[in-house]
Amino acid sequence: AGLVRLDKFLADMGTGTRSEVKLHIKKGKVTVNGEIEKSADRKIDVSRDRVAFDGSELIYAAMEYYMLHKPAGVVSATTDNLHTTVLDLIQEGMKREHFMKKELFPVGRLDKDTEGLLLITNDGELAHKLLSPKKHISKLYYAKVKGRVTAEDVNIFKTGIKLEEDFTTLPARLNILKADDVSEVEITIYEGKFHQIKRMFEAVKKEVIYLKRLQMGELVLDNSLKKGEYRKLTEAELKKLK
Ligand code: URA
Repeated sequence: AGLVRLDKFLADMGTGTRSEVKLHIKKGKVTVNGEIEKSADRKIDVSRDRVAFDGSELIYAAMEYYMLHKPAGVVSATTDNLHTTVLDLIQEGMKREHFMKKELFPVGRLDKDTEGLLLITNDGELAHKLLSPKKHISKLYYAKVKGRVTAEDVNIFKTGIKLEEDFTTLPARLNILKADDVSEVEITIYEGKFHQIKRMFEAVKKEVIYLKRLQMGELVLDNSLKKGEYRKLTEAELKKLK
């Protein structure tokens, strides 16, 4: 462990694609322990060798994975001129700026007013897999809804709701926790269309007034995380996602 090819190392650090990186190496832009290195297959010991690209040292960071309890009022973006972003909440982000590393980003989006589980990583491959429309990863939410949610709503959600000309939701599981003037439900969906759950309730003439994501695939929001807090995923959690 800890040994990696120079071209892979550079690509993992975000300096370019494998083929771009090979060119950089050929052109003499890359040094290992202070000396120009021209072979792409040179083995790098990530804990000892010092690799620099265009004169700046690259500090090796393996992939990073965090679960964040997103609070309302924060946007699911990496930067924003106006609002706090979910990345602003991840302190580790600060230390990273000095190095060329793969930057962290949120896997998918929650609306600004939605709370709950958000995965933050720099692993583009995993993100792609989790977000792929073909994979149908389940997402479990808790919602408060204005109006009395009925058994008929449960059936409509189970059948699928046509939200767009060419998009009907997959059967969603709606579990009524409390049916009242303001109802409480759990809902599982298998896609991630813009405002999907709000639009599904609109379709049955009801308004979502609170929304919190509890689970994504097998990843469950850690109850001990307060709003705005985050922690690294455990190995076991990561295994379940991959
Ligand atoms: N559905 C929504 O309407 N909003 C979210 O943030 C997530 C799912």
